[in-house]
Amino acid sequence: MKLHEYQARDILARYKIPVTGGGVASTPTEARRLAEQIGAKVVVKAQVFVGGRGKAGGVKLANTPEQTEQIAGQILGMDIKGLTVEKVLVAEAITYEREIYLGVVMDRGSKRITLMASSEGGVEIEEVAKTNPDAIVRIAAHPTLGLLDYQARELAFGIGLKDGKQARQFASIAMALYRAYIENDADLAEINPLVVRADGSLQALDSKMVLDESALYRHPDLAAMRDSSDEPEAEQQAREAGITFIKLDGNIGCMVNGAGLAMATMDVVKLYGGEPANFLDIGGGAGKDKVKAALQIILSDTNVKAVMFNIFGGITRVDEVARGIIAALEEVQTDVPMVARLVGTNEEEGRKLLAQSSLIPAATLAEAAEKAVAASKG
Ligand code: GDP
Ligand code: MN
Repeated sequence: MKLHEYQARDILARYKIPVTGGGVASTPTEARRLAEQIGAKVVVKAQVFVGGRGKAGGVKLANTPEQTEQIAGQILGMDIKGLTVEKVLVAEAITYEREIYLGVVMDRGSKRITLMASSEGGVEIEEVAKTNPDAIVRIAAHPTLGLLDYQARELAFGIGLKDGKQARQFASIAMALYRAYIENDADLAEINPLVVRADGSLQALDSKMVLDESALYRHPDLAAMRDSSDEPEAEQQAREAGITFIKLDGNIGCMVNGAGLAMATMDVVKLYGGEPANFLDIGGGAGKDKVKAALQIILSDTNVKAVMFNIFGGITRVDEVARGIIAALEEVQTDVPMVARLVGTNEEEGRKLLAQSSLIPAATLAEAAEKAVAASKG
């Protein structure tokens, strides 16, 4: 789950990372009031889930509260890479001499939580990785002891911080960012730019955090920060219903229980010349309501020309799924043809229930795929 800059900043502040203050505004008037409170030159920043807001015109400096109001008026409602700006962060503008990058990521290759730092801050790190890979220093945190003091110092020296006091401040920020990453179950924690001020001190100007969805249950306070504005509606509904759903570009909607079976189903659809419209796993033990929600989500995609059910009843009861399909069909008006392959626990009962419906029965996965592909082609 992505956090907005202002949310990530608030978390990093708790770890004593020097972030700039200020607050968020949804209207130009609110922005002006924040600038009045700050009482100095401010920076107005679009709060949208994209990188490179600066280049896109979403980060601007303002000298006075009046100018802040005017600039906030320009940025609020602005479209940045397809996302509408609904909030701006108004923070004290900082003057600085240079920009550094500091990030914590999970490096899947080495299976280690890795700190990355670069003297080439301010631009996206992916860009630095392409154009100047030697400017990035990486250090893997110790798998059980975590990030050690000496590692954090090595990182500081690695990016050329020579002054002892500055290197120590950098190391303590790196340790704090690592702790924020661990304690909040993040996938990514990043400060870009971390700037060097005229007096040599370091200041975080932009914070970014992405949290691990699977660990959110441990952090109800963080889960409550979710902003679904850039999430497709179907994926939002799926998440709320506890369904794993990923939209794809094909025209055969798939409803399956179990992630492995869902992937196998997509493979077999492709084998028979079809293209899946989605990956959908209703999970183990799904009842009527979940099946109904899943069918509504599948049918909300107007590309879908056929639906294929592939249910292997173990904990999930086939008759429950059949009831769900029937209940959904009573509410969702559709002429999309549907093929059902339901086997396992209570399959006889399930089949009897579906015999009265317009569903096309199939005994095997191959047969179901073949029939769904044929149905999708009319
Ligand atoms: P991003 O482009 O989405 O990563 O947004 P950032 O928050 O990193 O801002 C982009 C750029 O705006 C930074 O690299 C800085 O050059 C500039 N910027 C951001 N905040 C300030 C500030 O307080 N003072 C000054 N002078 N520049 C800033
Ligand atoms: Mn940035």
